[in-house]
Amino acid sequence: MESAATALAQVRANIARVCKPARRTPESVTLIAVSKTKTPEAILPLIHAGQRVFGENRVQEAESKWPALRADYPDIELHLIGQLQSNKAEEAVALFDVIHSLDRPSLLTALAKAMDKTGKRVPCFVQVNIGDEAQKGGCPISELPAFLAAVRAADVPLAGLMCIPPADTEAATFFALLAKLAADHGLTGLSMGMSGDYETAVMLGATHIRVGTALFGARG
Ligand SMILES: *Cc1c(COP(=O)(O)O)cnc(C)c1O
Repeated sequence: MESAATALAQVRANIARVCKPARRTPESVTLIAVSKTKTPEAILPLIHAGQRVFGENRVQEAESKWPALRADYPDIELHLIGQLQSNKAEEAVALFDVIHSLDRPSLLTALAKAMDKTGKRVPCFVQVNIGDEAQKGGCPISELPAFLAAVRAADVPLAGLMCIPPADTEAATFFALLAKLAADHGLTGLSMGMSGDYETAVMLGATHIRVGTALFGARG
C-alpha cells in the first residue's frame, strides 16, 4: 500500500515538474493508471491512495474486475485503451467512460449503433497509426480527415487523438506530429505517453497519459 502511494506521488511529481516549463497546470493532465493484468488486490492500494482514473485493454478482463470495485468506489472512471472488436462494442459502451481506440469505419458503425441503442454516449479518441506501421492498429494519417468527418457525422463524441509510437524509437517526434494533427482538426484531447515517455508527452501537450508499469511495477 505504501509503495503504491509512493509510486503515485512520484509520477504526479514528475508530471508537475514538466508542466512548469511547458506552462501547463498539472490539472490539465489526466493520469490514467493502466491496470491491465493486475488483480483487484493490486489495484486497491492505488484507489486508497486517491487514484480514480484507470485504463484496461480488454473488455472481458475489465468486466471481471471493475463492477465490484466500482460498487465500492462509484467515482471511478474507466478508460478502454486497447484494440476493440466490433462485436464487443455494446459491452464496451456499457462498461467504459472513455474509449481510446476508435480507428476504423466498421468500429465506428458498431459504436454509434451501441450508443444509439443504450442512450449512453461515450467520448472516443481516434487512434492514429502515427508511425505508419503495417501491424499496428490506428487510422492511417492519410485517411484521418475523412474518418474524423465520419465520426462527427455519426454523433459519436470526439475526445481527441490517441497514438502509440513505434517501439524503440524517439517518441517525441511522433507526439509532436499527433499534436499537430489534432490542432489541424480543431481537437484538444491528446492521449499519448506511457511509463517510458509520459514526461516528454506532457511537454508536447498530452492531456491523457496512460501509465502502467511506473505505478504497478512490471507486468508478470
Ligand atoms: C499497456 C499499455 C500502456 C501502459 O504501458 P506502460 O509502459 O506499462 O506504462 C499504455 N497504453 C496502452 C495502449 C497500453 O496497452
